[in-house]
Amino acid sequence: VVIAERLFFSAFQKQVFARVNKPTRALSVTFDLEDHRQSHAGSKRYLANTARILDFLDKNTIRATIFVVGNIIPECRDVLRRASAAGHELALHSVTHTPLTQTSRATLGAKLADARASLEDVSGCAVTGFRAPVFSLTPATVWITELLVEAGFRYSSSVLPAAHPMYGYPGAPRGTFRWPSGLVEFPVPIGRIGPTSLPFLGGIYLRYLPLPIIIKLVRRLEASVVPWTYLHPYDIDSSEAYYRFPGTSAVQSVLLWRRRRATLARLKRLLENAAVSTGGTLAEHLATSAALDLPQFTVNN
Ligand SMILES: [Zn+2]
Repeated sequence: VVIAERLFFSAFQKQVFARVNKPTRALSVTFDLEDHRQSHAGSKRYLANTARILDFLDKNTIRATIFVVGNIIPECRDVLRRASAAGHELALHSVTHTPLTQTSRATLGAKLADARASLEDVSGCAVTGFRAPVFSLTPATVWITELLVEAGFRYSSSVLPAAHPMYGYPGAPRGTFRWPSGLVEFPVPIGRIGPTSLPFLGGIYLRYLPLPIIIKLVRRLEASVVPWTYLHPYDIDSSEAYYRFPGTSAVQSVLLWRRRRATLARLKRLLENAAVSTGGTLAEHLATSAALDLPQFTVNN
């Protein structure tokens, strides 16, 4: 597989260089800081993995947006201080990583505001961004967009604008848009392979899809899309024993477990390609989008 991928890559690279006068796309790096085993016994590996990701970002002078789950902020203080000192943006990845579809709306607003304040305390920087767990901002959970504005957030990065086996919002705009509440949304970049639409720039897609295909899909993204990649601590944890992820099939769990060793090397190769450059944080994109007349998404409930 590796040899086939390399051959394909070198053939494709020739094509890419032949079209090198096409503008490069700036790729923002985002990272979801979560403990995927938080409800289980066992050592907490995510802090060490996060430190490795921060090392990688330092070494490659990349400033990322880090979405942090609220209930692990106390045990992440050191790593969060390090991240903010290095110029990374900190944002919130929900309070307990419960999908929005299973979250009670009644008490969430106050909890979101508290978690945002505690992240600001640790980082000393304004926290304006939010990402829903497992991209669970769907037609059923649009109510969160009003709570987020009330809790002081200014953008979200939570919508997967395609049909997807877990969550997804088919029909939502693929480019940056504004919710009726005024919240700006940076949807998950979607690429088409045949009849399938995939969030190809992160997670297991970044681990498995051949890089030439990822690069081609980045170049095909419409200008209104902010290209961002997403990673989790477990995506780089190649020495973790096989573990059945809650809520996934055995096949999905094996996919989530394999090919982790190559994740950061692939991200580096992606960012070194002539067609892709390193973009800024999502907060910086928010600042840029303030000057744009973003389309408003009319939600039909
Ligand atoms: Zn997550």
